[in-house]
Amino acid sequence: MQIPQHTMTQGLIFSIEEFAINDGPGIRKTVFLKGCPLRCAWCHNPEGLFGGPQIMHGRDGDELCGRFVRSTELAASLLKDSDFYTMSNGGVTFTGGEPTMQSDFLIEVLEMLKGKVHTALETSGFCPEPVFRRIVGLTDFVLFDIKAVNPEVHKRYTGVDNALILKNLDNLIRSGKPFVVRIPLIPGVNDSLEAMEQVHELIMDAPGLQRVEILRYHKTAGAKYPKVDMEYNPPFDTDAEPQIHNIFENSIVL
Ligand code: SF4
Repeated sequence: MQIPQHTMTQGLIFSIEEFAINDGPGIRKTVFLKGCPLRCAWCHNPEGLFGGPQIMHGRDGDELCGRFVRSTELAASLLKDSDFYTMSNGGVTFTGGEPTMQSDFLIEVLEMLKGKVHTALETSGFCPEPVFRRIVGLTDFVLFDIKAVNPEVHKRYTGVDNALILKNLDNLIRSGKPFVVRIPLIPGVNDSLEAMEQVHELIMDAPGLQRVEILRYHKTAGAKYPKVDMEYNPPFDTDAEPQIHNIFENSIVL
């Protein structure tokens, strides 16, 4: 691979998962980028929230969570076994954390992968619009998370306003890019029929929408929090059974 000299930005990743089957089409390699501006009360990846390296306590002692890698190095390693992923109509998925937080790094990697391996981005959509449009333009597929359409509910449970997120959902729809919407189903937060109808209203006419994935909440994520010195105190009933209003034409509950 040609390595352009100017593309040497470093990024911080905290995991790479092989053979992922729920992160976009086919079998995929999923790269987890560190750092997220949201603080969703149910977040399953607390080790991905802080945007720097940190100590993680494990059964076998402490280890460093977060590894710096050059864009060229990551792209080269992802291309090395891309044939295998391409055979299953899969590819590479970037998630986090919120991968667009490391936009310069992500853009460089995506530019190096473009046309060589199928790429997907999982995002909360919380990203400056021009950056979001640029990244979507370089990506083959998007997994767009929608937590809540109601701004008060969104702010209360994620810590941020959702106006920018909804603008980027609109940017994504206008781009025509194939995408799935992912809804983490949180009991008492966004599992009402009204909440689902609000999402439905936003996406029902989107030409690129492939399907809706409803992700069940798992309280097992709480076990990870003490490992990064965080407390897990979600302000909802973690034992409640969520209501499932599957009103979407093409959808799956995972
Ligand atoms: S956007 Fe994703 S990574 Fe960020 S806090 Fe929410 S669930 Fe966690």
